[in-house]
Amino acid sequence: MPTSRTDVIVVGLGTAGAATCMELARRGVSVTGFDALRPPHRRGSHHGESRSIRRAYLEGTAYVPMAMRAWRLWRRLERTSGQPLLVTTGNLTIGPPDSPAVSGFVASARTYGIDHREMTAAEVRRQWPQLAVPDGFSAGLERKAGILFPERAVTVMLSEAERAGAVLRFAEPALAWEERTGGVRVWTPSGRYEGGRLLLCAGSRTPQLLGEEGGALQPKRVVVHWIAPPEPSHYRLGALPVNFWQIPSPGSPGGSPYAEFYALPILQPGGRLKAAAHNRLKDFDPSAAAQEVAKEEKKKIRRFLGSFLPELNGGDIRSDLCTYTLTPDGDFALGAAAGRDNVFLAALAGHGFKFAPVLGEILADRLTGQEPSFDTAMFAPDRFR
Ligand SMILES: Cc1cc2nc3c(=O)[nH]c(=O)nc-3n(C[C@H](O)[C@H](O)[C@H](O)COP(=O)(O)OP(=O)(O)OC[C@H]3O[C@@H](n4cnc5c(N)ncnc54)[C@H](O)[C@@H]3O)c2cc1C
Repeated sequence: MPTSRTDVIVVGLGTAGAATCMELARRGVSVTGFDALRPPHRRGSHHGESRSIRRAYLEGTAYVPMAMRAWRLWRRLERTSGQPLLVTTGNLTIGPPDSPAVSGFVASARTYGIDHREMTAAEVRRQWPQLAVPDGFSAGLERKAGILFPERAVTVMLSEAERAGAVLRFAEPALAWEERTGGVRVWTPSGRYEGGRLLLCAGSRTPQLLGEEGGALQPKRVVVHWIAPPEPSHYRLGALPVNFWQIPSPGSPGGSPYAEFYALPILQPGGRLKAAAHNRLKDFDPSAAAQEVAKEEKKKIRRFLGSFLPELNGGDIRSDLCTYTLTPDGDFALGAAAGRDNVFLAALAGHGFKFAPVLGEILADRLTGQEPSFDTAMFAPDRFR
């Protein structure tokens, strides 16, 4: 049955949707959110027990003020909810000194005075013999960086949203929408809903929901590997920082000349180290039934481990599937959909979790006609037109 008109309708209650509903409801804006499932779940982009959070942002200095605000908001959310959401581990960015990752890290850290250490390969190997950093590489260590617990964080944001008055409808997918003068309509299996504005943040389903306007967004499959180390104490939280690698390696013509991988420490006794490739990913079809992990995908991570975390070579590996919703330039798509007044989108390009609460603020500003306090011009969805 249709509900009465709400100020904002949010489609997708994962990372971006939960954060935006929380922020809108706290501001007294009426918001109704829909999710096809009940987040947190394992069929989107927010599962897998850990997400790295750092502020010396190698993707560009423009993100740094947002990352700083996000850190403070996560800590505030921990206090309000009484739930631990973030643990400090340190974050190491590794690659040739002139690689975009290392040079971007250094630029961000220096520009914003972020506590960090620039390290040679030998210094890294001395401190963490688990990491076989080749001579000629260097690294940037951000000490006050860490890991978020994504499933718990989504649960907390959703319950905070409901507590502040958001109406959240789970297991109710949006099937279609239309923009009308002064508002939007959304259809679900239960009926038609009327709203002032619509936010589409359905992860890998956003391109499909957007139709032609979603053409620039590309869902990608991310295979996450869980490795059992021979000596777990070398890889547990506290013994190893989050480590991100940018490794020179010829790719497809026009593509990045670097292969990117990362590894996150073991979070609890009996747990496993997590590792994955971050680029050169295969397209993901959210409608396809079978989503098996291919042998080649396991071989790829074994090659990375064999070269750079060699003690893990040969360890038992379990693999799992997650998704990124990539944009052509790797930056977020955040704001009004091209040519639309009342329809907004959030596509987080595979690096958005750490920003969730600040994205909630930015999207809440946009959805209520306010100018965000961050410069978000570079995220405008119509830049791909
Ligand atoms: C393996 C992996 C590792 C990552 N590591 C990091 C990291 O270390 N740090 C970091 O900052 N980021 C990281 N990211 C990226 C980050 O997790 C994502 O950018 C973020 O979770 C995306 O959020 P989202 O809201 O777009 O999608 P989701 O959180 O997946 O939410 C989308 C929701 O939409 C719902 N939905 C789909 N279709 C419909 C429909 N028709 N109607 C209603 N609801 C619908 C889904 O059920 C889902 O709940 C990682 C991502 C992956 C996959």
